[in-house]
Amino acid sequence: MIIGDYKLTALETGRFYLDGGAMFGVVPKAIWNRSNPADDKNRIEMAARTLLIKDSQRCIMVDTGVGGGWDQKFSDIYGVDHSKYSLQKSLADAGVSNMDITDVILTHLHFDHVGGATFRDKDGTVRPSFPNATYYVQKKQYNWALNPSEKDRASFFNEKYVPLFEEGRLQLLDGETELYPGIFIRLTDGHTVAHQTVLVSDGTNSLYHPGDTIPTSSHIPLPFIMGYDNFPLITLEEKKSILRRAVEGEWALFFEHDPKHASVRVEKTDKGYRAAQPIDMNSEAK
Ligand SMILES: [Zn+2]
Repeated sequence: MIIGDYKLTALETGRFYLDGGAMFGVVPKAIWNRSNPADDKNRIEMAARTLLIKDSQRCIMVDTGVGGGWDQKFSDIYGVDHSKYSLQKSLADAGVSNMDITDVILTHLHFDHVGGATFRDKDGTVRPSFPNATYYVQKKQYNWALNPSEKDRASFFNEKYVPLFEEGRLQLLDGETELYPGIFIRLTDGHTVAHQTVLVSDGTNSLYHPGDTIPTSSHIPLPFIMGYDNFPLITLEEKKSILRRAVEGEWALFFEHDPKHASVRVEKTDKGYRAAQPIDMNSEAK
């Protein structure tokens, strides 16, 4: 997909599995199981997709996937699977090396978004996966991650990002901004505090990355809100605003976790918002 001077590519980094009930909150399994069939542990398949935004100057990634280095217990619970996809393979397919990445925008610090940001070398030292990149997260999200609620503390692993901050590689942003021309950081708070989303727009064509505010295309209908969200009624209001603007502005939406579709457009019908046609980001010229 091309927007302005930027080439946008969806990169698969791997698959993992989360409890289907937790992913769909109050929606009954009889409904969500049709689009997202559960396995024998009631888990559903999740993508961990990175958005690559590239021009002649910069190579920007949004989120980094689950990454490696997890223990067996963790890998078993979450079914972490890099057999088919990995960030390394996808970057190579896109003709990009780890050294080329200039910026990593982290929507938030849950493990499935920040896990690939760092790795542990042979000495056990945590190092940035992208040695030349500046990493960005919101200051309020960083502080929340260091002192999370009992509800979402299981999703934070400080060793994945505190070393980045201590090395001066993690820049803490304070509010909304236009990070580079046409790349806008927008905040949502329903999923977790100061979660940042990314709008890429040239004024005509736009792609919006809602992060975990709308994690899959199955979460487009308004009541489909994750049980993981800290403030679900705030998510509801944020979704109304995002979806209204997506329809009016003909935004393509990007989905980090949708197992089938990296991107779709949205339409409003008399039954509410729903996914319209999927977009093949990596082959479509526009
Ligand atoms: Zn999350």
